[in-house]
Amino acid sequence: MVIAYVRNGSKAKGKGKGKAGNGKRDKVCATPARHVAAAAAAAETEVSLYEADKVRFNRAADLMRLDDRPRAVLSEPRREIIYNVPVMISQSRNAAENGRAKSFLAYRVQYNNIYGPYKGGLRYHPQVSLDEVKALAAAMTWKCPLLEIPFGGAKGGVAIDPMQYGPADIEALTRRFTYEMLTDIGPDQDCPAPDVNTNEQIMDWLYDTYCMHASDKFNVTNAAVVTGKSVACGGIPGRAPATGQGLSLAVREWAKARRKNPRGLRVAIQGYGKVGSYAAFFLEDMGMKLVSAADVRGAVANPRGLDARKLAEHVKATGSVAGFPGAAKISDDEFFSTQAEVFIPAALENSITARTARMLRCQVVAEGANCPTTLEGDEVLAERGIDVLPDIFANAGGVAVSYLEWLFNHGTHLFTTEYVTEFLSDRYARNYQAISEAVKKYRTDWRTACYIVSLSRIGDKIVHRGLYP
Ligand code: NAD
Repeated sequence: MVIAYVRNGSKAKGKGKGKAGNGKRDKVCATPARHVAAAAAAAETEVSLYEADKVRFNRAADLMRLDDRPRAVLSEPRREIIYNVPVMISQSRNAAENGRAKSFLAYRVQYNNIYGPYKGGLRYHPQVSLDEVKALAAAMTWKCPLLEIPFGGAKGGVAIDPMQYGPADIEALTRRFTYEMLTDIGPDQDCPAPDVNTNEQIMDWLYDTYCMHASDKFNVTNAAVVTGKSVACGGIPGRAPATGQGLSLAVREWAKARRKNPRGLRVAIQGYGKVGSYAAFFLEDMGMKLVSAADVRGAVANPRGLDARKLAEHVKATGSVAGFPGAAKISDDEFFSTQAEVFIPAALENSITARTARMLRCQVVAEGANCPTTLEGDEVLAERGIDVLPDIFANAGGVAVSYLEWLFNHGTHLFTTEYVTEFLSDRYARNYQAISEAVKKYRTDWRTACYIVSLSRIGDKIVHRGLYP
């Protein structure tokens, strides 16, 4: 049974039917504004993000003949929660909003916690909808077991364009959203983390607000209510780069398996935020060459190479990769057609559609973003013999290191960055192997094999525990 708390606790029972991924049937999406490119991509796919996950889940479950108990448990989220978050606005770019209250719709989907406490990021973006959050919560559920991280899967978000508001508004929104979530989150219950447009500062505000209201407010382990905090607030060095670092390790394992020398491999990255920029640093350190990068405001290229760290400084100073000195401005289509062995989508979902997949001139797509490839995109990549390192494996480094932060907050020793690197390298090497074996055993593609490995790990636990009552 799915329980939706519609608008601050007026509890409604029933199936969550929001399907905003394709913009067709969503009844709860707060803000009609959508990012143009994402909307265009979504229009090219027949199904919503959540429906796409269902197709992939069922394909893997059928192929591996998944026991009916885990299949029933995992086929829908446990809880879908919708919150109304009212905020007094003071720093809007739209002057008419200042001094007035505004309400934002927010979501937390707790997909499954059989493998460990619910875990998953919070996203602030105008496109956030129930369908999207359900799909991302499902992805977290499949992701954690793939690197043997004992967390379950959740996700949350607020339908807001944060670029329109100042820091005081974002702080007020975060604190009120945390207050609304108080009985739903907790150090051993559900622990959020950063995602698109959220950062350490937002996680620190969440942690502080949680402590102000917790019945055991002086309990030091309260810090484990959220990961991705600043080091001052109990974060660990190495968490911020972790998703990009994990992505680079997935690419390194792929290169090893394909007997390719990483030195000189060319890389194109879509999205130069937290994930994309750190991935570029680690890949550059392995000897690879960043040849093009794109973000929401533009795309740039230089076949002789772009300095990954200087590009990040440029983004910090200007807000975009556009205008990076020494690089040519290119169009979106030219970006997708970049001649590079490694293509990394690290922006939003649905960026690799049938159309853009046909343009790619790469050997491997390493998915930094969650759900970046549509079902149709998958088919084209398979037809064209392009390898795929799926999101639920390739971008799991962040949650893996969140687990170390969570352990640290529960009183274990502080993990050094050397330990983080060793931990991630080990998890990526042995699980790359496990997935490769599933590819061979089931004669299937990498994405289905990832689902199979994950479902067999969660499924075993469900079968051993049995289905209550
Ligand atoms: P971020 O907000 O730091 O960066 C997002 C980047 O994507 C920005 O450069 C932005 O300009 C770009 N972008 C947005 N829309 C775009 C578009 N239509 N075309 C081109 N570029 C666009 O976010 P992030 O934390 O780096 O997350 C990026 C992706 O990685 C998301 O899908 C997120 O869910 C996923 N992810 C993040 C983490 C994490 O630890 N932060 C972990 C796993 C997966």
